[in-house]
Amino acid sequence: MAKKLVSLGGVLLIFLLGPARADKSLFTPDVVTSPLIKKAFSFLEKNRDKIITNWIYLTEIPSPSGNEGERAAYMRQIFKNLGLHQVQIDSQGNVQGVWPGRKEGKRILISAHMDTVFQGVKSIKVRREGNVLKAPGIGDDTASLINLIWTIKALQEAGFQPVNTYYFLATVGEEIGFVGMKAYFEGAKEKFDLVLALDGDLGKVHYGALGFGGGKVVYKGPGAHTMQSRGIPNPAVAVAKTITRLYQIECPASPLERWTILNVGMIGGGRVTNAVPQEVFLTIDLRSASQEELEKIQAQIQQICREVAKEEKVVFDLNLRKDSPAYQISGARESFLVKTLVDILNYLKVKDIEVDPLGSTEANVGLAQGILSVNLGRTYGRFKHSLREEAEIEGLFLAMKQIILMLVSLEKAPKLDY
Ligand SMILES: [Zn+2]
Repeated sequence: MAKKLVSLGGVLLIFLLGPARADKSLFTPDVVTSPLIKKAFSFLEKNRDKIITNWIYLTEIPSPSGNEGERAAYMRQIFKNLGLHQVQIDSQGNVQGVWPGRKEGKRILISAHMDTVFQGVKSIKVRREGNVLKAPGIGDDTASLINLIWTIKALQEAGFQPVNTYYFLATVGEEIGFVGMKAYFEGAKEKFDLVLALDGDLGKVHYGALGFGGGKVVYKGPGAHTMQSRGIPNPAVAVAKTITRLYQIECPASPLERWTILNVGMIGGGRVTNAVPQEVFLTIDLRSASQEELEKIQAQIQQICREVAKEEKVVFDLNLRKDSPAYQISGARESFLVKTLVDILNYLKVKDIEVDPLGSTEANVGLAQGILSVNLGRTYGRFKHSLREEAEIEGLFLAMKQIILMLVSLEKAPKLDY
């Protein structure tokens, strides 16, 4: 009986984890000396100034989430000029262009987002200081739109005739919950084999989706003047107890697929110093690579709040996010997709390569569908989401080479079992 249970456990484990992938990297350094890649790279070098000018031009078109129209019109025109097929702006405002390949090829979706976080910024002026460009949105994610445009141009110029079919997508609303990408997936007739999100710093590779499960706890009591407060329930005490207990919850730091963190970022409540507050709140930021951990800890948070409320004789409201789950694909780290990308980054001598399952890019939308997905960085940068955002010019050229090598390597992508 015991033996039977053990073997059943083994089967269950394999079922839960899925078969281990043992893919090979598709990148071989000799591809770099092929005439195609040589031509594509030299095209980029020859057009250096044009590319930088184009980058500045596009950055100076303000494009906060919800108002991407002007950039969308521009991207549509570019996709048309490039001769892409099925160029259109969908009902959400995403711009699509297709580079058709052959029937036996894969269907690969490549996205870069048009929106920025800079609501209300009406005029943007890029400043250049040596190798660095400075302006809100210069990196995130305008640099990726430029990478997209110019890698397509370079590959066309070099005579690339793909086996795979590429669906290029300039998206809206990435910064407000991937709304454009999600809508595109819902409306798409095609089933995609791979998703590449052009986003993030160069060298940062995310093959899984980080989940968010935090929220807000509010404790409420009757309140009282300090002089009449003996024995009166105090929501502030409940908050204090809760914080102490939240930090006793175990948040795994390893393995990376279960990596989890919890932070109490805000507390507040009460109106005056001489009364017991009627209401005190705290916020919880909870993030995990694992949906199972996320849900487990959410249950523990609920339990803690229930117990504390009972002990302190207060009532509570608890709202924990369910809108942004974690997604991991079994064996993704060992998949040809991730191995190929990491090999390319090493080959290009990209500094500070980090590979983890903690992504917050549009690749998450692919992962949620069970599709192998990864992000490809845009350049090196600093201060993203702030008005003093910076991005490096050299890094952009490295990032474009990364994309070109990736697309050419993916021509040999193996059969996928989904
Ligand atoms: Zn971004």
